[in-house]
Amino acid sequence: MSGSKLKVVVLGAGYAGMMSVKRLTQQLPAEEVEITLVNKHNYHYQTTWLHEVAAGTIDVNRSRIMISDVINTKRVQFVHDTVVKINKEEKTVQLENGELSYDYLVIGLGFEKATFGIPGMDKHAFSIQSVDKSRMIRDHIEYQFARYRNEKNPDPSMLTIIVGGAGFTGIEFLGELAERIPQLCKKYDIPRQDVRIIDVEAMDTILPGFDDELLAYAKESLEARGIEFKLGTMIKEVKSDAVVVGEEQEEIKAGTIVWTGGVQANRLVGEAGFELTKGKVNVDATLRAPGHDEVFILGDCAWVMNNETGKPYPPTAQIAIQEADVCAHNVKTMIYGGTLKEFQFDDKGTVASLGGSDAMGTVFDGNKIYGMQAKVMKNVIDDRYLFLLGGPKLVLRKGKFRPF
Ligand SMILES: Cc1cc2nc3c(=O)[nH]c(=O)nc-3n(C[C@H](O)[C@H](O)[C@H](O)COP(=O)(O)OP(=O)(O)OC[C@H]3O[C@@H](n4cnc5c(N)ncnc54)[C@H](O)[C@@H]3O)c2cc1C
Repeated sequence: MSGSKLKVVVLGAGYAGMMSVKRLTQQLPAEEVEITLVNKHNYHYQTTWLHEVAAGTIDVNRSRIMISDVINTKRVQFVHDTVVKINKEEKTVQLENGELSYDYLVIGLGFEKATFGIPGMDKHAFSIQSVDKSRMIRDHIEYQFARYRNEKNPDPSMLTIIVGGAGFTGIEFLGELAERIPQLCKKYDIPRQDVRIIDVEAMDTILPGFDDELLAYAKESLEARGIEFKLGTMIKEVKSDAVVVGEEQEEIKAGTIVWTGGVQANRLVGEAGFELTKGKVNVDATLRAPGHDEVFILGDCAWVMNNETGKPYPPTAQIAIQEADVCAHNVKTMIYGGTLKEFQFDDKGTVASLGGSDAMGTVFDGNKIYGMQAKVMKNVIDDRYLFLLGGPKLVLRKGKFRPF
């Protein structure tokens, strides 16, 4: 190679972006390849912990990590800016405050709320989407408690929380609420029975895709802590103070409405003109965009087929992290030659937290685990990622098993 350095630009410092940068810096020589990471915040956050931030069961700062603490800023140029457009033909990326050109692009811009055109959902419902949005949910819920305590004849619906969706995020959030609400009741001298937490789900089941025994366990655990479920019930409309549900158009008044029922890929990938399947870019097995071998698309922006099941892989952190390994190898291969790797998911299991010391899921070869054992496993999964990203120091500072 001769002349100026090749430019690899990584968009988004989520699971896919951070792990790509980590692996790229390990595999590409600094004297030949320049690596740039762009992110709209100067911190990386644990998206998988946002429901805890939203419920107020962990502090905001626990979920975020300064990017400069975990990447080598001498090796990687970090650009704290927001991507506004990807020009794939010109090989440039437009930022709010400038423009970057690239030879290779890695897109890990994550997800945004999908509301399926439900009237009022965008305007009136919160979503667990970023640190800032999650913090707003936490503050809003607590504000409702403070208002209820201070008003002369408070409307009881102030203390009703409606959660739309009973998928992974919805269920984990309900688990955290089941822990947090009794604490708020104590803090504001409000009887627990004055608070309603209602989950509304269009499907007849919670957590589609999970084993029946596991989901029965999850539902019973949440119901035992006062969560109400309205399954097989569609949300028809969201108003500022109510949700209209079901064929009978029942109106349930609520002080807090949180939508967890749908996510879609960051709209920037569609706007860039990549071919989409259900809003995501249908990448090939080497994770490259169709017609653009120099563009890798990972995590929640990518539609990656599982050839064994004939279905796409679900949007998970575990998959985003594993995709980053394949992506870094393939960028190196495209520059220096060799054999491109195809993505194959190594399923280490899935565990859903139910709040407090409860959880359930499967590990390794499909073994079912429940309760404290599952919770410990969930923490191990979280800490393993922190270890991969920032070694034992990061586990000690932010991990779920830290001694303080
Ligand atoms: C509450 C919750 C719980 C979850 N629990 C689990 C779990 O237990 N296990 C699991 O495997 N998965 C879980 N998931 C799913 C998992 O978090 C996602 O699949 C994963 O975060 C996808 O990684 P990503 O790198 O594609 O995107 P993200 O991690 O979302 O990162 C995207 C990054 O891009 C940045 N960004 C976005 N737009 C721009 C822009 N225009 N300019 C610059 N930067 C931008 C964002 O700030 C962010 O840093 C959960 C999701 C949620 C919301």
